[in-house]
Amino acid sequence: HEYGDKMSQKKVVVIGAGPGGYPAAFRAADLGMDVTLVDPASKPGGVCLYVGCIPSKALLHAAHTITEASHANEYGVKFDDPQIDLEKLRTWKDNVVGKLTGGLGMLMKQRKVKYAQGVASFSSSNQVIVQLQEGGEQIIDFDYAIIATGSIPVLPPIVEGESTLVMDSTSALEIPDVPKNLLVVGGGYIGLELGTVYASLGTKVTVVEMTSGLLPGADRDLVDVLKSDLDTRFDQILLNTRVEKISEKSGKLRVTLSDLEKTNSNMTFDKALIAVGRRPMSKNLGLENTNVKTNERGFVQIDKQCRTSDQNIFAIGDVAGEPMLAHKATSEAHVAVDVINGKPESFDPLAIPAVVFTEPELAWTGLSELEARQKNWEIEVTKFPWAASGRATTMGKKKGLTKLISEPSTNRIIGAGIVGNGAGEMIAEATLAIEMGTKLDDMKSVIHAHPTLSETFMESAELFYNQSPHFYSPKRKK
Ligand code: FAD
Ligand code: NAD
Repeated sequence: HEYGDKMSQKKVVVIGAGPGGYPAAFRAADLGMDVTLVDPASKPGGVCLYVGCIPSKALLHAAHTITEASHANEYGVKFDDPQIDLEKLRTWKDNVVGKLTGGLGMLMKQRKVKYAQGVASFSSSNQVIVQLQEGGEQIIDFDYAIIATGSIPVLPPIVEGESTLVMDSTSALEIPDVPKNLLVVGGGYIGLELGTVYASLGTKVTVVEMTSGLLPGADRDLVDVLKSDLDTRFDQILLNTRVEKISEKSGKLRVTLSDLEKTNSNMTFDKALIAVGRRPMSKNLGLENTNVKTNERGFVQIDKQCRTSDQNIFAIGDVAGEPMLAHKATSEAHVAVDVINGKPESFDPLAIPAVVFTEPELAWTGLSELEARQKNWEIEVTKFPWAASGRATTMGKKKGLTKLISEPSTNRIIGAGIVGNGAGEMIAEATLAIEMGTKLDDMKSVIHAHPTLSETFMESAELFYNQSPHFYSPKRKK
């Protein structure tokens, strides 16, 4: 291994086995450290594998198939209405999760990472106590600890009493049934992804979002394209609307909504999904027995090396701040472990890709136009519409958009956004371009295979110089 000659027997405990914790434990073990990974589940995986990224994407794959089949009629291929075997769909999704978490369990054993199945809390700056799942306690003394306890859903106090008809993302992923109609509170990542799943299975979905647009913070040009599609997929999208109260009466949910003028209205739903954000899991961790500090929102405060205010304790992933994304957690994991190993690493990316796996997908990376405008930074924006893409046309996906943000003084690409089929895969090219300091004329000259959607990056750069063969814009003179 690259640091093999620096093998040490540092004792490391990693708390939480999600996409932050397990890669941290694995890398530390690969570097020869004595590692214990703690998590209440029987195998590593965390929120991402058990109740997050993976099960939701398995279900979204099914949703995608249903959507594609329904569009096929446009080109003369007609399928019957889908027959949904819910039991089989659930089993398939659970098997996907089982295969991946099982694989992690094996990889952990091969690396000789010790696993304590239970809940850890700090008793001091060099000791944690684990309440073991099987009963009893395990005391672990450590040289270094990595907190990777992730996040949990925010549950606003809007539900009167208790109702099994009100779901969070975890229970919604169980797809206990396909309700006739579903209220989704929150038009963010989870609301739109799981709303897409339920809508594809036949549920009438109403999304209620309190701000003026879906996915607040995301690029409006991209969101507008997604919204025009979701308007046809969902029953209703109510913006500038808050859910004030949800109560169960005679097997239905009575919901009180209020708009900007604070005018109330009532609606009835079969079920509701609450997806109004997540909060860090930093409580009940015994942090008061250490020097670790949290901010007013409960995120553990870290520096660029992922070190907390307690010298030997690091924090990574959702518990250590936004964006709450699995790949950000994994990247921080590698930084924290390399720092423990004595390398001068830091977490300082130019671009963290974000993907919303809706139909169509929406993805962005690096600096957004919104952020640049808020900071009063000068930028150039180039937008290439997919109506001018050969590949998009062959797929009947002409509504997409590829957008490049560049720095006028250097023509370097500093941000990108895509809405359209496969945006989640495509965004990798833009992220690499940003991290490698790629300029628009490099992007323009790199040969992209034809016909592909990735050509839209090349054509965007060509468009910047008014050299796009497939898009004529007399206004853009370069
Ligand atoms: P987590 O994955 O939250 O893992 C933390 C682990 O720590 C958990 O297993 C928890 O039980 C354990 N733990 C907590 N406290 C203790 C304790 N005291 N002792 C021991 N163990 C403890 N992100 C993406 O990038 N792409 C996606 O497609 C995506 N889809 C998502 C879909 C849904 C429905 C949800 C809910 C989230 C999704 N996310 C997605 C977000 C992603 O799941 C998180 O960003 C990611 O899991 C964070 O990783 P983590 O390692 O910080 O923590
Ligand atoms: P979110 O922050 O993405 O969206 C929450 C939405 O709810 C926001 O638009 C917010 O304005 C709205 N909201 C808040 N209170 C409301 C209220 N009372 N009434 C109506 N709307 C309200 O949060 P989420 O969807 O719960 O997801 C949590 C996090 O999980 C995400 O931020 C993301 O980091 C992660 N995640 C990522 C993916 C992915 O990468 N594809 C998928 C799912 C979740």
